[in-house]
Amino acid sequence: MSNTLIVLSGPSGVGKGTIVKRLLEKGGFELSVSCTTRAPRAGEKDGVSYFFIPRDRFTQLIREGGFLEYSEHFGNYYGTPKFFVESKLKTRDVILEIDVDGALAVKKAYPAALLIMIAPPDREELKKRLLLRGTETAEGIEQRLSRLDYELSKQSGYDYVVINGNLDKAVKEIENIIENEKQNR
Ligand code: 5GP
Repeated sequence: MSNTLIVLSGPSGVGKGTIVKRLLEKGGFELSVSCTTRAPRAGEKDGVSYFFIPRDRFTQLIREGGFLEYSEHFGNYYGTPKFFVESKLKTRDVILEIDVDGALAVKKAYPAALLIMIAPPDREELKKRLLLRGTETAEGIEQRLSRLDYELSKQSGYDYVVINGNLDKAVKEIENIIENEKQNR
């Protein structure tokens, strides 16, 4: 059985990070670490949350074809390092936590990738979560909310959509999806 590239995405603040953390704690997965030009938030570690790199290094990597996909959000670049993913996939299932445009680009490059969208139970709930996180400015929250409808409109390109109303349930549902898919491949 070959290893699976699992792409999890969904609007900012939907709880992807927490879900991914749970999946990693259960074991069997490797998380791809993206590169970004944005500044680290409190508590984020270089090489763990992201590889935080300067803009000129990022654009150099774009020119060298070093990214599986990349995009720009809120004035910063985010990209999936190709070498990192390909080397990890040799031994484990790999999880990518990226935005919808990135996910659809990955599906084009790797049709076998399993795309799962995590959606919020409702917009107000997501707004509450973003406020509680306390890491964004009011403008940052507005930008993230305005992207919400766009992200949700891309659901049809995904293999599965999971609503994160209850964390335990969402994690279980994702585990079941991955297990079933692996058995049927
Ligand atoms: P944040 O700044 O909140 O960590 O992330 C902002 C957005 O960038 C999120 O929607 C996140 O999923 C997306 N993102 C993170 N890493 C990547 C990546 O490697 N590629 C793409 N296309 N988007 C990413």
